[in-house]
Amino acid sequence: MDAQRRVQVRAGLVRLQAVLKSERASPLEEVSVAGRIAQEAQAAFVFEVKAARSAGHSWERIAEHAPGFGPAAGDDGAQRLFESLASASGGGRACVSLRCGSCDGVVVDRGPYGGHPSDAEQGHRQECARHRRDVERYVASLSDVPASPSTGIEPGAACPAAPGIDLGFGLE
Ligand SMILES: [Zn+2]
Repeated sequence: MDAQRRVQVRAGLVRLQAVLKSERASPLEEVSVAGRIAQEAQAAFVFEVKAARSAGHSWERIAEHAPGFGPAAGDDGAQRLFESLASASGGGRACVSLRCGSCDGVVVDRGPYGGHPSDAEQGHRQECARHRRDVERYVASLSDVPASPSTGIEPGAACPAAPGIDLGFGLE
């Protein structure tokens, strides 16, 4: 989340918390305000998870830090976290779109389901050091892995944005 957006979010949360603390607020006003806080928090959560992926953290590592997705919540936390953010692409396969912090490529992330890194993340630039390391690590972990992606998914296939969240509390 960029600095300006963080300032806006914090200012909005402070205003909303003030409404919740007000003795004049009715229960229905408080429901509305609490709902807006939940929406804003969810939007911030999505943004920060994608930022962590852009920075090169694995879904597994991010899930360890995400309440409700960590080890205590089961061993499929990384997949559940991915699925909570993903939208279906044209081919029907779930994906998350993000910008690689290493090569600045727009990456279609297909989630933490294993396989060749070039299948799981498409859109890295050819010179991407991070992606090259991921491929080298993957190849080293297997004895007879094919040298190229095996699923035949269109390189650069678009990943539609997840449904937007209407923040609706006037953070201009
Ligand atoms: Zn990259």
